[in-house]
Amino acid sequence: MSVAPIYLDHAATTPVRPEVLEAMLPFLGSAGFGNPSSSHRYGRAARAGLEQARREIAHALGAEPGQVIFTSGGTEADNLAVIGSALAARSSGRPMLAAVAATEHKAVLAAAHEVSHLGGGECILPVDANGGLDLAALAAALSERPSVVSVMWANNETGVIQDVPAIAALCQAAGTLFHTDMVQAFGKIPATFEHRAIALATISGHKVGAPKGIGALLVRDPASVEPILHGGSQQRAIRPGTENVAGAVALGRAVLLAGNEQSTEASRLTGLRDRLAAGLQATVPGLRITAASASRAPHILNLLVPETRSDALLMHLDLAGLAASGGSACATGAVEPSHVLTAMGIPAELGASAVRLSLGRETTEADIDRALALFPEAVAKVRRLTESYSHG
Ligand code: PLP
Repeated sequence: MSVAPIYLDHAATTPVRPEVLEAMLPFLGSAGFGNPSSSHRYGRAARAGLEQARREIAHALGAEPGQVIFTSGGTEADNLAVIGSALAARSSGRPMLAAVAATEHKAVLAAAHEVSHLGGGECILPVDANGGLDLAALAAALSERPSVVSVMWANNETGVIQDVPAIAALCQAAGTLFHTDMVQAFGKIPATFEHRAIALATISGHKVGAPKGIGALLVRDPASVEPILHGGSQQRAIRPGTENVAGAVALGRAVLLAGNEQSTEASRLTGLRDRLAAGLQATVPGLRITAASASRAPHILNLLVPETRSDALLMHLDLAGLAASGGSACATGAVEPSHVLTAMGIPAELGASAVRLSLGRETTEADIDRALALFPEAVAKVRRLTESYSHG
């Protein structure tokens, strides 16, 4: 009998929840397919679904329904926050300058770079060895009056949690707009939009049990961002385009469920993750946990496995039935350590051995047992191969 593979890559994406699928299906079929901008009954039915989703998201995140701007996902929401706020600054005669943490998702880093291309500037804020934001660097950047500061709540590679309420308060005191990417944080830690110093916040559907291709930017003040897409007047023209009604309905239901389950799920995942971490440390010689002493989101475990390369290890894990991902990008055969690990001062060779195991709602005790059983053998295999290769 073949054994089902184990999926420990929930930070990359996670399955659509059955309750979410059930909620969204009517909006793809004859009852709710209408265009929400149409005034007839079909349009009104679609609009009702859209508005219900806005209310659910607002409720779960401590926002107002009118503050929810649906996007095509986390990437677009991050771009709208960083570039849209720079455009709004320019329109009011202020400089365009995006100050973002070095460990941000590429969606934020590349958007900050685009602000430079548009004639503004970008400022990359360093982090310490544990991935925590350098507050002195933030203070220096604030004196330059950036158009936005963007710092993610929980890092997608390491799980490291930033003190977002405190950082947002520093930005607010300096009169600077603050954005947080809470794609990995929402539903896993108590991340909310209730802190009034947070001006903009990003969420993405496919990390919380909704489909890919839907997300939202929470916008406290519509004047703080200008659109980056141009077209109709939907969503107050901040994000024109016919809304993805079924996707929005799915996002609303997924966010509501994830918000309600956050604290119980966080303690369950923390238990599983800690058992996984302790077991691996006991059985894999030299294995290290990235940012082990930092406060980390409960679903992400970043491992450094000396004398291996993450591409080889991931392949052997996959063959053994464990799906995980690397903390590094592979370019022309050479494993480049990720920008996140590099920013934390992790040496390139060690960084190139990083593997991320990430847990989700479907992860069970039995998955952890199996991962613990097969991981050490996969590491030993890769180490043997690496050694024979280097001696060959
Ligand atoms: N921000 C973070 C922290 C993420 O983990 C991701 C997904 O990988 C994104 C943004 C991008 O979201 P999406 O895949 O919905 O564009």
